[in-house]
Amino acid sequence: MNRTVTGDEVAGVRATVEAGAAPRCTECRDIKAARRGAEQRGDRAGMGAAAARMGVHQRKAHA
Ligand SMILES: [Zn+2]
Repeated sequence: MNRTVTGDEVAGVRATVEAGAAPRCTECRDIKAARRGAEQRGDRAGMGAAAARMGVHQRKAHA
């Protein structure tokens, strides 16, 4: 049986993804955005740098 994905389902998935990412502050959000951008460019060094930034930031801001 064929069925199409509804807009509501897409919104639900998006909400779930964003809840899973759960940025706690604007800097977390910025770092996640940078990491996502690097991922989309296939920039592995950038992804690593963003992960390192996130680690440092979480220790300093969310310890
Ligand atoms: Zn943060």
